[in-house]
Amino acid sequence: MEDGKGSRGHLVLVPYPSQGHINPMLQFSKRLVSKGLKATLATTVFIFNSMKPEPSPLVGLDTISDGHDGGGFSEAESIHTYLARLAAAGSKTLSDLIVKYRSTDHPVDCIVYDSILPWALDVAKEFGLVGAPFFTQACAVDYIYYLVHHGHLKVPVESLPVCVPGLPPLELRDMPSFIYVAGSYPAYFELVLHQFLNTEKADWVLINTFYELEAEVVDTMSKLCPVTTIGPTVPSMYLDKRVENDFEYGLNLFTLDKSTLITNWLRSKPPSSVVYVSFGSISSLDHQQMEELAWGLKQGGFHFLWVVRASEEDKVPKHILKLEADVEADYDEKSKKGLIVNWCPQLEVLSNEAIGCFFTHCGWNSTMEALSVGVPMVGMPQWTDQTMDAKLIQDVWEVGVRVRVDDDGVVRRREIEGCIREVMDSERGKEMRRNAKKWKALGREAMSEGGSSDKNIDAFVSYIKNSMA
Ligand code: UDP
Repeated sequence: MEDGKGSRGHLVLVPYPSQGHINPMLQFSKRLVSKGLKATLATTVFIFNSMKPEPSPLVGLDTISDGHDGGGFSEAESIHTYLARLAAAGSKTLSDLIVKYRSTDHPVDCIVYDSILPWALDVAKEFGLVGAPFFTQACAVDYIYYLVHHGHLKVPVESLPVCVPGLPPLELRDMPSFIYVAGSYPAYFELVLHQFLNTEKADWVLINTFYELEAEVVDTMSKLCPVTTIGPTVPSMYLDKRVENDFEYGLNLFTLDKSTLITNWLRSKPPSSVVYVSFGSISSLDHQQMEELAWGLKQGGFHFLWVVRASEEDKVPKHILKLEADVEADYDEKSKKGLIVNWCPQLEVLSNEAIGCFFTHCGWNSTMEALSVGVPMVGMPQWTDQTMDAKLIQDVWEVGVRVRVDDDGVVRRREIEGCIREVMDSERGKEMRRNAKKWKALGREAMSEGGSSDKNIDAFVSYIKNSMA
């Protein structure tokens, strides 16, 4: 690959500092490099120091500051103060980064920034660079936020159902949680609405979805704000296999068990017999909900692999699972029904033939990963876009079911058990599995040569190369 002075466009990609935002932007970086550009992922100093990433042969790594270099988000007084400092320190240090690269062989040509960091576009434009927000959530979710931001949809919602092209009529519980629970997390609600603060100045608006998955809403939104679909951004090995050595994301904010524990445990289980349970990198269940989940898994009677982050581990009701599961169990104990781990290589797990369904919080990456490997889901959304993703999973793509929450806000064990049984062991479940395989094929096609996302990425790459001329 040519690497001389000015011979490749250089993009700096700036994700929001969390696992679910870093993963897709890192993957997009690799894709751009495979198409002849140079990409540098700029995480915060705190994330960089805590991940201790190994240098990647593909993507350069660098840092900006969120104003909390020692402890990141946990150090901040509130969400509001964190976001304000991230914007101030982030703008300053992103400018410094651009200036630093100016005196190298690779001056920066373009900033691709997480759409929830709109200040990065102001920085890009100050330096006369190409600027492109990268939306890490479903187009349907982004469209709802667009409507609210521009006053086309009033919050609290006055008239139900809400209609979005390509989606069945939406009730309140199908909307993103900031709308569903009016007034919740005001700082985050402002953050998602402000994604559209300055998009008219952006050169491209990139979205991590694929056209076939959300065609009608992509077309509708594009009439108001032209969007470019570039997903799914899962490692190429699970899609078109064209990006060399792209087997995994490679940057984990949590300690990954590198031993063969999980794969050996899965290998000892029959095909489609295991329920994989994970609530992503942020969501946290309370004690009562953990207990209901444990009972639901136990009563379901299927094998289960449950990710419980180290910070949540004290909530695992070991007395319920005593005879059924071990925490970090020895894989030799094949008779055990369950295995609980702190963090796993999720895509590798999902693509293992032993997995029968994914019991998920419906984070967008988790959803895209399950679609990409063709695994049906039980959705138990917690907040933000997850409620709407669950609607899409159940009623649009028909690849899963969504649990019902009772009047006390708890998902009961019988509900959990029933939903798992439905996906694992019913005629409807078989249909979901067939649908999941269909989406898997379409996702792969989108990223393969000449597919919808591939063509879009090629157009973006050409634009960057031409803008350097
Ligand atoms: N993930 C992982 N190992 C785990 C659990 C999650 O690698 O044990 C990854 C998962 O593959 C996904 C990301 O963490 O890429 C979570 O992103 P998502 O959008 O699903 O949820 P969030 O963490 O943002 O709520």
